[in-house]
Amino acid sequence: MDLKKYIRDISDFPKEGVVFKDITPLLGNAEALKVCVDRLQALYNSGQKVDKVIGIEARGFILGGMLAERFNAGFIPVRKKGKLPYKVKSKAYSLEYGADELEIHEDAIQPGDRVLIHDDVLATGGTAKAVCELVEELGGVVVQCNFIIELDFLNGREQLKKPVASLFNF
Ligand code: IMP
Repeated sequence: MDLKKYIRDISDFPKEGVVFKDITPLLGNAEALKVCVDRLQALYNSGQKVDKVIGIEARGFILGGMLAERFNAGFIPVRKKGKLPYKVKSKAYSLEYGADELEIHEDAIQPGDRVLIHDDVLATGGTAKAVCELVEELGGVVVQCNFIIELDFLNGREQLKKPVASLFNF
């Protein structure tokens, strides 16, 4: 099945000059969604256990949750500042213009937990790198950063210095 045809380009979103990869057609098609989670699961093939899957707010929650169920792992949301109700660990990270902060519950990961991080798109890598740092500060081990789409020209993979796997490279 050609999943690429369920990903559409939206020009000038969220701001002028940006071409945004929109995965909502893929999410909205039952067969494409199932094939997508099958293939994302197959990207992690070390045979070693995954204890937790992290989904990054907000699009990372969808397939991240589905992957957690596939791996018999727990699901952990990483959210933008101020959204999580319990005690958090925070990490500032830079965006193209300015900065933001991501948060994780401080009891979400136990020392030694093997953690797979999922998001829809890897762009510059700043977001996923901040999440890797949060995982490691809580004593977890990042076993893979897993994406639907990787924007090669932004070199996010180099930033991460972790196992990275994606379904599509643009
Ligand atoms: P990075 O920190 O530059 O790697 O940006 C990655 C974050 O921005 C992820 O959370 C993505 O969901 C989001 N993002 C960046 N570009 C796109 C896009 O074209 N489509 C959807 N999300 C994007």
